[in-house]
Amino acid sequence: MEDLRAEFKVADRDIVLFSGGIDSLYTSILLRKKNPLLLFVDMGAKDIYWSKYFAGKVAEKIGCEFKVDNSIINIGREHCYGHNLYIPRRNLFLGLIGAMYGKRVYLAGVKGDVSPDKSPEVMKIMFNAINETGHKSEAIEFFDSILWDIDKVAIVGDILEKGYSEDLLKLSYSCYKGMQKPCGECISCFRKWAALTLNNVDTKRYFKKFPLETKAAKYYTDMILKDKYQENIPLPLMKKLLGL
Ligand SMILES: [Zn+2]
Repeated sequence: MEDLRAEFKVADRDIVLFSGGIDSLYTSILLRKKNPLLLFVDMGAKDIYWSKYFAGKVAEKIGCEFKVDNSIINIGREHCYGHNLYIPRRNLFLGLIGAMYGKRVYLAGVKGDVSPDKSPEVMKIMFNAINETGHKSEAIEFFDSILWDIDKVAIVGDILEKGYSEDLLKLSYSCYKGMQKPCGECISCFRKWAALTLNNVDTKRYFKKFPLETKAAKYYTDMILKDKYQENIPLPLMKKLLGL
């Protein structure tokens, strides 16, 4: 008898959820031989233009296929008033979209990352939820990060050691303010500045403001003094940079 149920088969492919930042760049470099698809999911946050633009450029430089998915582009517009890069449970959405494209879905989470939707424990929960809420033909084999044991400073070091250029690192993009030139004062810019500086990459003229003289430096100083610092830049190195 003809089976009238619609069937969705997930492709046998490696997918990197690709923001164009250093961590997803590194994941892509490590998986390059497997010909991964670098997937940028546009959730409609305001100021995403440059992030999307640079993600495409970085993908081109490392010779990987790049795709922008617009299927949930209204999430940011409808629920985050179109002005905020923060989307609640963002990584769960990313996992669900990634699972449309391939059986192995890589999300870049690194040592020290802290958010409720990004940790080794919660990735397992999301992976199980994705498989247990779908048919067998829709099952995926992997949804996790391969970077849990490495921090951002070591990642930059390894990218350079593998022979990739400082320019490629500077082409990567993760500024929360969304201007063409990284602002230097958001916490994402600060972490990037820290990781580049600790690897002796010259960042003069790269950031709009010198990160060490911004509110981000003050924020991290406060966190350290209050003993609340938890980040993907190791504490001793961050202290050194901040002169603490
Ligand atoms: Zn910034």
